[in-house]
Amino acid sequence: MTIHDTKLYLRKLLAMCLVSMLTACAGGPSENQNNLAFALAWKQTAAEYRALYHQGFNLARSRVELALLQRDSTSKPLAVVSDVDETVLLANEYWSRLVGQHQDFFDDGIWDEFIPENRALVSPGAMEFLEFCQQNNVEVFFVTNRDQGERTAEYALSNLQSAGFPFADEEHLTVLRGSSNKEPTQQAIAENFEIVVYLGDNLNDFSRRYYSTDIEQRMALMEEDREEFGKRFILFPNPTDGHWIRAIFGDSEPPPSNENRAVLNQAAMKAVP
Ligand SMILES: [Mg+2]
Repeated sequence: MTIHDTKLYLRKLLAMCLVSMLTACAGGPSENQNNLAFALAWKQTAAEYRALYHQGFNLARSRVELALLQRDSTSKPLAVVSDVDETVLLANEYWSRLVGQHQDFFDDGIWDEFIPENRALVSPGAMEFLEFCQQNNVEVFFVTNRDQGERTAEYALSNLQSAGFPFADEEHLTVLRGSSNKEPTQQAIAENFEIVVYLGDNLNDFSRRYYSTDIEQRMALMEEDREEFGKRFILFPNPTDGHWIRAIFGDSEPPPSNENRAVLNQAAMKAVP
């Protein structure tokens, strides 16, 4: 070993000792990690993430084109039912604020500040798909569950209008404040329209039957409907929030405690058959 190699070896050894000491002082890995950062880095930087939106809207367009070809004079008018957050609008900046403020769980206060600012981004392919629907007289209905108090619906409408979406009006927007159950709204739309596709980032955007806190049951219900995905149900990726988190914690927005960080680590090592 040359003197240079020895110096390099000692430097590496010193660095390793420092990292170990810092980790020990900080009280273990749970204090050092931001669980949200990995998921958000993927959302912010991966071309694959954005490509999945194009894939979803390309599939949705194919289904609408097919329905347009198959309809006849007795058919009800065609419609699309779409979720809003993480489906046609991306709240990446909200998630960045959380990471920037060393938060690693959903935070209602920061979310409620973000919503009225109209800073969500249009998801890749959303505008083109919605305009295609408009050009072909296929109505799009937005159904979202949010709660920012009495101005919730006003803020949601402003978000859609600020994005420049077609169908951004009161007639095409339903905001559910007290419940995430979208089925009564879906059924009301289906009375007058043939719903071609449902767009969402959460299985609950398609059917309430997926509203389960049991991980295996959610998985089994999804598998029962496997033929629907890419056909009637168009699913977009969301690694930062949704009912999959509720299935882990029993709560869609669990408090940012070390106990919950430990639960998340356990979930990461859990194998679902
Ligand atoms: Mg959503």
